[in-house]
Order: sequence, then C-alpha cells, then structure tokens
Amino acid sequence: MLTYFRRPVVLFALVLVAAVTSFLLLKPDAATIAAPPKPVTVNTHQGTLPKTRAVAPAPDTAALPPATPKTILARQQVPILCYHQLRNWRPRDSKMAKTYIVEEENFRNQIKMLADSGYHTISPDQLYDYLLHNKPLPEKPIMLTFDDTNLDHYTVAAPVLEQYGFRGVFFVMTVSLGRPNYMSKAQVKALSDAGHTIGSHTWDHHNVKKYNPEDWVTQIEKPSKQLQEITGKPVLYFAYPFGLWNQQAIPELKKRNFRAAFQLATSRDSLDPMFTIRRIIASGYWSPKQLHRSMVNSF
Ligand SMILES: [Zn+2]
Repeated sequence: MLTYFRRPVVLFALVLVAAVTSFLLLKPDAATIAAPPKPVTVNTHQGTLPKTRAVAPAPDTAALPPATPKTILARQQVPILCYHQLRNWRPRDSKMAKTYIVEEENFRNQIKMLADSGYHTISPDQLYDYLLHNKPLPEKPIMLTFDDTNLDHYTVAAPVLEQYGFRGVFFVMTVSLGRPNYMSKAQVKALSDAGHTIGSHTWDHHNVKKYNPEDWVTQIEKPSKQLQEITGKPVLYFAYPFGLWNQQAIPELKKRNFRAAFQLATSRDSLDPMFTIRRIIASGYWSPKQLHRSMVNSF
C-alpha cells in the first residue's frame, strides 16, 4: 500500500528535478546576458579608435529575423569604391581606359583624403551585419574594393591601405592567378592573412547574364573552391563582371554559398538588395576632392 501511496510523490519529485535541470541547462550563460553588443572597431586611424555611428542600441540582433528588403533599401548606403588598375598612365591608354586606371600618386592622395576625412574601412561581413541585422558601424564607414586580380593591388594598394590601418576587398578572377602583371596565389593568401577579404570575380570575367548550366560550375563553383583552398576561408562575396547582373543570376549565387553580391552604380533590386549592392568606380580622372564629391552624391 505504501508504494501506491508514494508513487505520485516520487513522480512529482522526478518532474521537479527534470524541470530544474532543464532550466539550468537552458539558462543562457551570464556572459551572454551581460555583454552589450560591441561596436565593431577593426580599423584604427593613427591610433585613435573610431566612434560608432549612432544606431539605436540593439539587443542581440543576430537573434532577430533578418531585415526585409524594404528595410535594407531604406538604410543609409555605405559608400563603396571600386578600383581596377593602379599605375601611371601610358601614351597608349585610351580615354576610356584611364577611367579604370588610377595613377599611383593619385591613389595615395585619394586614400589619404579618406583617412584625413575620418573614414574607416569596413569589411563585407560588417556591411552584411549592418544591412541585415542593424549592427553598428564605425563612424564614416567606407568599403574599398579592387577588381580583376591586378598585381598592383598587392604592390601598390596593400601598402597604402596598411599605412592607414585600412582593409580592402579583393575580387579575384582565378584565371589570372600567377600570370604576368597579376597576383600569385601566395599574394592572394598574404592579403587574406593580413585581414583583407577575398571575394570571387568569376574564372575569366564572363558576364553572368549569359551563363548556361556549365558556366555556373566553371565561372562560379570552381573559382570559389580554389579561392577557399588558397585562403582557407569560405568565399561569401561576389562582384559581377562589368557590374552586370540579372534576377536569374541571384538564386544561382545564393545556391553557391554567397551572402551578397556587388554590382556598379545602377539601382538595386527591390527584392534582393543584398545581391545588388552598389559601388562607384573611383575614376582615374578624379582628384581626391572630386572623388569625395562623387561619393557624397552617389550614396
Ligand atoms: Zn572586373
């Protein structure tokens, strides 16, 4: 009889123990609760820590659902510059080509202007977290991107960026790796190791609007795999060759692990702003002042 009488008590005790245990196990650890979201302060200019842009203090934003396209489109755009060649003009360079060729001295002055004006470079990860999760950015954020694997990205750009504590994004087309006047695999790895981001710019610069199913393997899948092997890091960001994109390309990129893609200066897609992020070409004709004016007008 006694056992019958006690059974509910024992059951109750078991339930209580289970409840307490699960509460203790599920309770987030104190550090998670206590630590407020930290502003990202990767880049420092001449030893001073950047202030963060005033963004409403957020709870742990990663736990919230990502922002809708409408919200993303409504956020203040971060200026993003796109560089190609960094070298002195030659007599045979066409008028058009000079738009894409920033002379070394001018490049130094442009970057110095950005640093002197209080800009702080951000990574694509920071941009992603800002656009999707409203994570704070450093004051006066800017992103510097370099397309086409040119050797001068390593020999000219990287040392100048280093001088100001800046970090860049290098969109590599893998066909060029190791060719004369292009970066080697070791140089791409060195940029990655130094904290720059390596993104994909296809295998040989084919326009994504013209891909057949095989091209998605050749131009996108294989290059990602190769860049991942070189850097030891996932390849999450893509720059469209010629800045050209269409809506059909976006799901194909998503399927292949990309988190965002960068075009040039046309308007963003209303449904997929993360895959049509805008950049402007830093023209070889622009003085630092003109560059600044264009940035302010375009973003
Ligand atoms: Zn390109």
